Parts: sequence; structure tokens; C-alpha cells
Amino acid sequence: MFETLKPQPADKILALMQMYRDDPRETKIDLGVGVYKNAEGVTPVMRAIKAAEHKLWEEQTSKSYVGLAGDPAYSDAMIKLILSDSVARGNIAAAATPGGTGAVRQAFELIKMANPGARVFVSNPTWPNHISILNYLNIETVAYRYFDRETCGVDFDGMVADLKTANKGDVVLLHGCCHNPTGANLNMVQWQEVVAILNERGLIPMIDIAYQGFGDGLEEDAQGVRYVAANTPECLIAASCSKNFGIYRERTGLLMAVSQDAGAQALNQGTLAFLNRQNYSFPPDHGARLVSMILNDDALRADWAAELEETRLGMLALRQQLADELQRLTGSDRFGFLAQHRGMFSLLGTSPEMVEKMRADSGIYMVGDSRMNIAGLNTQTVPILAQAIVDAGV
Ligand code: PMP
Repeated sequence: MFETLKPQPADKILALMQMYRDDPRETKIDLGVGVYKNAEGVTPVMRAIKAAEHKLWEEQTSKSYVGLAGDPAYSDAMIKLILSDSVARGNIAAAATPGGTGAVRQAFELIKMANPGARVFVSNPTWPNHISILNYLNIETVAYRYFDRETCGVDFDGMVADLKTANKGDVVLLHGCCHNPTGANLNMVQWQEVVAILNERGLIPMIDIAYQGFGDGLEEDAQGVRYVAANTPECLIAASCSKNFGIYRERTGLLMAVSQDAGAQALNQGTLAFLNRQNYSFPPDHGARLVSMILNDDALRADWAAELEETRLGMLALRQQLADELQRLTGSDRFGFLAQHRGMFSLLGTSPEMVEKMRADSGIYMVGDSRMNIAGLNTQTVPILAQAIVDAGV
């Protein structure tokens, strides 16, 4: 049997990490893998997570199974964090999943189950795993224009024109905030326009939110999702706690199915539990429990929010420093978009050849599509990157 297997393509980002490790240059900079790193290059355990883990270790008396949809206290806390009071709780079905990826996967499975003919419209570009999972599930994907390589902002006219080609029942995948890989995001007026198109054409929104708190703030980053959830008949929301709680390896995510028809909730809830059962039965609990402990404890929550805010402001300061440095070196505002982008990533919008040149000449490791992880920088390395960008003639 095994001899029929075909080798799967290697993960490009992991291959890049290995090349970085093997590079002897002291000035090399790793802007590859999508993990937050502080100025020392460390991905820290957040203070509130440590405190919650300590408390959990002391207080937890059983590790028996929880429930197919996970702990309801986790779903409640996450629904409040993401949706606030934009939708009544009774209109939302939710289930814990192994990370945001688990939520994305379950959402796609639900789409296939509910409407096997639905196509999923994805931004060009999007997180590559979206397309990879959709292909694996044999779901047709259609790319919509999103990133304008001239301005490095959103090509909103292109996006609107492409969404208008979608048919009733098609799904439109949107990034809730901090678009990966581009860093370019919709403003509230654009969210409203997108929702109008969705409703006009009978399209179903699916929102992937993996970086709440990394862009403009915890509340600000959720405005688009809240608007969609409140103003469309139904939507799917896949959330990840990997980044904003720093619990990547704990695999903590949530899938929500929102319907304006409260009568749909029980069926949706049963479907989410069923899908969990088929794929892995009970979802992981450890990370989810830490999250609900933090969100339901005033002191832990305040400390978590404060540390997350420091993280966010640190990345914003690096963005500004890089944009300023490039302005100084080039005498132009061409790179001003780096300070406008939000989240951990920015797409430089340059060619793979240029990315390769920066790696070979200056030891700058970014993903081949020119995605940079801003958190891979610190105040000392920003000038090195700026010079490398200029030297490569980007
Ligand atoms: N969606 C997007 C857009 C992401 O960037 C990520 C993380 N790379 C995820 C979902 C899922 O992350 P995880 O499964 O680690 O929670």
C-alpha cells in the first residue's frame, strides 16, 4: 500500500528556516515563519498564561473528557471577545477546535456537507493553507483580486468586481484583521460595501480571524467581524488563540456558525459537535481552559491585555522605524505602506528573484512571495533590512 504514496511538496517556510540556521553570517535576519518574536528573538510564554497554568495545576482535579464541542465556558468567553454583543448568544453555535487551522478545516467540511456545489472565493494572495486544505477537500476555489502590487494596499475595485462574479450560495473567505500575508486590510466603509455585495448576491461569508489584538487593538480588530456577523443572514467564523495568547503548540481555536434565525442554532451546534467527533472526537482542552480562565478573571485579563498591547505597539514601532529608514535612504515615500499595514506581516510586493537576491547578498530570509514577519526585526536590525532592500533595488 505505502508504495503508492507520492511525496508531498516540502513546506517552503520550514525549508527557509533550515537555510537560515545553516547561514554563518552574523547579520542574517529571519523574517520567515509566522510566529511572534520579541526583541531578543524569543517567542515568550505570556505572563497571564503562566499564571493560569500555575492555577490550573493546583486546582484541576480531573483530566477526563470534556465535551465534543469543548468547554462551553471557553466558547462563551471567546464569543464575547470576538463578537461582543453584536449577535445574541442564542444565534451562535460554537465548538472548540485544534487551533485556528482546525476551525478552518471544520468550516470547509461544513460548507461541503451543506452545499457540495459551493465555491470558496479566496483573496489573492491568502494564507497558503486555505488553498491547500480546499484542494485536499476537492472544493473549488476562485481567487478574488485583493492586493495592489503598485500601492501595496487593497485593490478594492478589483475585489468588488470579482466578488460580483460569485453565485448565490458561494462562500467568500475574508481575513478578520491583519491579513496574512499582505498586511493590507479593509477599512470599515469597505467592510460595509463587501457586506452589501454578499447580501445582494446571496453569498456566505467565512471569516478567519487569527490575529485579534495585533493590528489596531482588541476591540478595533473585531469591528469588521462584528459588522459581518450582525448584518448577514448567516456566517462562519474561524478563530485562533495561537498568536494573541501565544499558545501556538496548545492548538486552541474556535469555530462559530452564526445565523440570524435562532431556530438554526441547535442544528448548527449538533453539526459542529458531529464534525469534531468524526475528525478527532474531543478537541484539546488545555489551551482553551487557560484562555477562559484568563478572560473570566479581571486581574489575569488585564495583564494579558496589557502584554498583548505592548506586543502590538512594539510591532507598530518597528513598522514606523522601517518606513522612516527607507524614506531616509530613498528620499521617497514609496515604502510608507509598511507603516500603514497591520499585524505581523507585510508583503513587499517584489519578485521572487529580488527576494532571492536579498537572501544571497544580505542574509535576509523572507518568504518567496516577499512576505516579511515584522516581529523578526528589532531596532538594531531594521537599518540592516532597509539597506538590503535598497541595495537589492526593490
Ligand atoms: N489563519 C491564518 C490566516 C493564519 O495566519 C493562521 C496561522 N498561521 C491560522 C489561521 C491558524 O493558526 P493555528 O492553527 O496555529 O491556530
